[in-house]
Amino acid sequence: MNKIKDVAVAGAGIGGLTVALGLAQQGVDVTIFEQASVLAEVGAGLQMSPNAMKVLRQFGLEDTLRPYAFEPQQATIRHFKSGEYYLKAPLGQAAIDRYGAPYWHLHRADLHHVLVEACQKAGVTIQLGATVTGYQKSDQQNSVVLCLQDGSQYETDLVIGADGIRSVIREQMLGKQAPDFMGQVAWRGVVPVSKLNAIHVQPDACVWAGPGRHLVTYYLRGGEWVNFVAVEERGGWQSESWREEGDINELRSAFAGWHPEVTELLLAADSTFLWALNGRSSLRTWFQGRVVLLGDACHPMLPFMAQGAAMAIEDAYVLVASLMSKPLPDALASYEILRKPRAVRIQNMSKDNTGLYHMHGGLFGQMKLNAVKVASQFVPSAIQGKLDPVYGYDVVKAAAAWC
Ligand SMILES: Cc1cc2nc3c(=O)[nH]c(=O)nc-3n(C[C@H](O)[C@H](O)[C@H](O)COP(=O)(O)OP(=O)(O)OC[C@H]3O[C@@H](n4cnc5c(N)ncnc54)[C@H](O)[C@@H]3O)c2cc1C
Repeated sequence: MNKIKDVAVAGAGIGGLTVALGLAQQGVDVTIFEQASVLAEVGAGLQMSPNAMKVLRQFGLEDTLRPYAFEPQQATIRHFKSGEYYLKAPLGQAAIDRYGAPYWHLHRADLHHVLVEACQKAGVTIQLGATVTGYQKSDQQNSVVLCLQDGSQYETDLVIGADGIRSVIREQMLGKQAPDFMGQVAWRGVVPVSKLNAIHVQPDACVWAGPGRHLVTYYLRGGEWVNFVAVEERGGWQSESWREEGDINELRSAFAGWHPEVTELLLAADSTFLWALNGRSSLRTWFQGRVVLLGDACHPMLPFMAQGAAMAIEDAYVLVASLMSKPLPDALASYEILRKPRAVRIQNMSKDNTGLYHMHGGLFGQMKLNAVKVASQFVPSAIQGKLDPVYGYDVVKAAAAWC
């Protein structure tokens, strides 16, 4: 088989680093081109569910990540004012028993840092301040050329576009099309537990559901910090940038009158960033010739299943497995066939959660939450039936059977 020997990855986000690590562990020469001049991640948390943890374990990172993790005891949904529970789904040891891997909360910077170190150890070259502008055909039959803003070029066997929601690789492959603003914005921030005197935040992955908005809380770094993601529906996004410094007072007033666990947490927060939440409908294809997309570059999603990074990690595993077992273009076709239906399903599930979390439909919305409460108490298998295909999915086994 004509094996891939050299790969160029556009973007050192979680997807790009994971695929680079997997390929380097298989003996492939990998160079990552990252536009940022320093490797840093935003001050925010990330829920790493068992389906993604199985890949991180397979790549040898579980033990390294453990000291940075917080293990939530349950996933909950609560009423924004009264604090009444609509959902209690066990995590902690129950997640390990049920899904064969832990459900962890990690600081993005910790996961990013661990991935960077592992990549460097495996021999991956990371070029910083290297903005990718596109790709072009090579004179050689079995290669492709990656083009950079400074005019330099890199000839390689394969280009992986892991350059996020505004991917230039996707744009060249499929045409210029701005992502769709999903009518929602998210504030994110972290608060040291030492600043929380008046409240005790529950050790859960908690969604506080309210009309037109919701707020997620969970602990990070073994319980030293509380992370929050506060989402609000908005008519439009005026700013040029998709991320900007948020106004902490505006955030506090958006959630004024909510349960004290929410209001006191926001009172203790010093600063916040504001994100426009964007999406994209399913792409016609994920690859062209010797160029392939991965992660948010091909399937950005609302963060309402906390699965965007998890899907990028699953993509990375399947792409590595495909490339190691099949020649091109079969490897890329095989990757897309296995990954696309799953990514689209999770994109849709994430979107569907908007209505539930934001009590859409007035009384009907309230009834839906009450139905979740009844199911949570009396028919937990109905709740598990929804979560199992997401968290219980074993991409390692799926790839072994498919690739
Ligand atoms: C509020 C919020 C909460 C979230 N919570 C979770 C969660 O709990 N769990 C979860 O799994 N997911 C979560 N996500 C989703 C997750 O953050 C993303 O899906 C994930 O980071 C995508 O990874 P990626 O590597 O594909 O892209 P990115 O993280 O966007 O990385 C792309 C990289 O490419 C670089 N780049 C871009 N353009 C170029 C270029 N032209 N040249 C060179 N480099 C370039 C960028 O600088 C960046 O480093 C959340 C998202 C949001 C907005």
